[in-house]
Amino acid sequence: MVDTRRRFFLRSTAKAKVQPLPWIADRDNFTDQCTRCGDCIRACEEQVIVNGDGGFPSIDFSKGECIFCYACADHCPEKLFRSENEKPWEQVITIKDTCLTYKGVECRSCSDVCDTRAIRFQLTQGQVAQPQFNLQDCSGCGACISPCPVNAIAMENTGNE
Ligand code: SF4
Ligand code: SF4
Ligand code: SF4
Repeated sequence: MVDTRRRFFLRSTAKAKVQPLPWIADRDNFTDQCTRCGDCIRACEEQVIVNGDGGFPSIDFSKGECIFCYACADHCPEKLFRSENEKPWEQVITIKDTCLTYKGVECRSCSDVCDTRAIRFQLTQGQVAQPQFNLQDCSGCGACISPCPVNAIAMENTGNE
């Protein structure tokens, strides 16, 4: 007889694809260590942590930005997070070629919300200004993702944490 409960357990704990929370110590093994208690989800006042793949917490930048308040880490009963004094994550944005400006349409929605000024627009004579990046200034907060009208912005992990 097939044990459906066991089958569900195996499926739900297989490596899930999640957008990691800030300060996660071991991104690669996060889904082996997280118990899916949901305490981080309830702690996030910005409501950017969702029940992701396999029931694991995952950041959903379509809902907003991370303000680096550290509440998710503070409320986690496991030892999954690094110290608040460390850099929260190694990730920056990438912009796809669907960006409206590459098609000659004026848009600056992403830079309007970027507090660190990692995205700027340079005026070029006879052309619609296109985004210029200073990715060293990108905190990976994700604030620019949801305002983009054509979903042209994605987050990319650039580190080994
Ligand atoms: S640091 Fe704060 S805003 Fe960012 S995911 Fe954690 S609880 Fe949410
Ligand atoms: S992720 Fe945050 S810091 Fe980086 S470009 Fe977008 S708004 Fe600016
Ligand atoms: S918000 Fe999106 S479409 Fe607009 S300039 Fe930024 S990346 Fe391009």
